[in-house]
Amino acid sequence: CGIVGVLGTHEVAPILVEALKRLEYRGYDSAGIATVHKGDLDRRRAVGKLVNLSDYLVKNPLRGKSGIGHTRWATHGAPSVDNAHPHKAGPVAVVHNGIIENFRDLRAELAEAGIQFVTETDTETVALITQRYLEDGLAPVDAAMKTLSRLEGAFALAFLFEGEDDLMIAARKGSPLAIGHGDGEMYVGSDAIALAPMTDRITYLEEGDSAVITRTSLVIRNESGEIANRKIKTIHIDQ
Ligand code: GLU
Repeated sequence: CGIVGVLGTHEVAPILVEALKRLEYRGYDSAGIATVHKGDLDRRRAVGKLVNLSDYLVKNPLRGKSGIGHTRWATHGAPSVDNAHPHKAGPVAVVHNGIIENFRDLRAELAEAGIQFVTETDTETVALITQRYLEDGLAPVDAAMKTLSRLEGAFALAFLFEGEDDLMIAARKGSPLAIGHGDGEMYVGSDAIALAPMTDRITYLEEGDSAVITRTSLVIRNESGEIANRKIKTIHIDQ
């Protein structure tokens, strides 16, 4: 229900939880974050309020300066730790707002290939398909783009990859997504409010856009894959 992402210069776990708190107004049943630290992609998830996630993080810290976070409002699969986002399949982690309408077809295709599922969510299929493309030898950006071309429905997505601590991919189709520009940092949020303490410089993705984000660059493509020029707006939000 809420997505945040940070390619930062400080330990990112507390920043992600703080940003997720600013999206609490949207409602949620569980929450989680994933980070890349020294190349390793790892995650922590908890059912219930964000305080459960932060308590869990105190006992099981997650290091790293790049990360994605999510508050979930379950549509497919009960609220549980297993069904909570980020969903991870090998070297990729995904957070997702909305619904992948064709996930049953995608799941059938994966099942046919002998892939096992650990959740009942539509989102897991996104992570599993990306993993397959990575295993086919595609680079992270290409694997994510090819995955996006397979998805139907209304969604916002953010991807994070093992071994890539300066790369985040985001996409919007029917569910809003804002990209925040910092000083040598970049952010993603389903609402610019989540990013307000970090930046007031926002690029809104338009319908069908995908974004390849590093700490110092943002490349947005439209649905046809053409480079799209989206303006940076300075927004005013009372904190
Ligand atoms: N459809 C996804 C799920 O049930 C995402 C729901 C959301 O937007 O939080 O896990």
